[in-house]
Amino acid sequence: MTSQFSTYVITQPCVGVKDATCLEVCPVDCIHSTDDDDQYFIDPEMCIACEQCALVCPVEAIFLDIDVPEKWQNFIDRNADFYRRTKGEPMPVPIDRAITMIQAGHAKARELDIAVSVAVVDEGGRLIAFGRMDQARPMSVDIAVNKAYTAATFQVPTAQLTATASQSWFQSMIVSSQGKVIAVAGGLPVLDSPNIVGAVGVSGGTDDQDVECCRAAVAAYGA
Ligand code: SF4
Ligand code: SF4
Repeated sequence: MTSQFSTYVITQPCVGVKDATCLEVCPVDCIHSTDDDDQYFIDPEMCIACEQCALVCPVEAIFLDIDVPEKWQNFIDRNADFYRRTKGEPMPVPIDRAITMIQAGHAKARELDIAVSVAVVDEGGRLIAFGRMDQARPMSVDIAVNKAYTAATFQVPTAQLTATASQSWFQSMIVSSQGKVIAVAGGLPVLDSPNIVGAVGVSGGTDDQDVECCRAAVAAYGA
């Protein structure tokens, strides 16, 4: 899995403090530790470099990777090593299941009497499969792909991002992603516990209808 962004890194001042303040502000839940570790670590594959954790850390332990002080450079590997040690390697959604998911999304759309585009991406937001129903509007193509990309990148349903859409860090993300990040309902991550293995995005109906089609597609992943 390859991060699309720079990452923040937790360094020496956290050691022994480990007060978990930063966990509360991370929008993608990518800061973890274990009882056996003396500090928290940031997952470099998941961090979206929003800076929120660095702003609240009481001991100034968190730096953007390119700004980590020389004496703490080893913490870049320390953070990454924690996740190499504790995470399994996720397999992205296989193509046959991605196609099944698209068919399930289309079936739900027919039930709702709408026409939609459905995109399935891997955990890094890269396209695996795409299906546009007859009559689905042309603009639904890019929107479905972008919703899936956003759900994979943030690892949350895109509907949850609407509240943060006006914040400056999110606006920066929109610009740096060249518009691929969007805060519109209709994107859902695909979980193969404990890993996110991809995401699905749907466009063509109302927000609620797109979400319904997404849910049908995600349900088909596990079927
Ligand atoms: S920079 Fe943002 S995404 Fe990265 S660990 Fe900190 S709060 Fe989480
Ligand atoms: S807020 Fe700072 S000291 Fe507290 S756990 Fe996070 S990095 Fe460590």
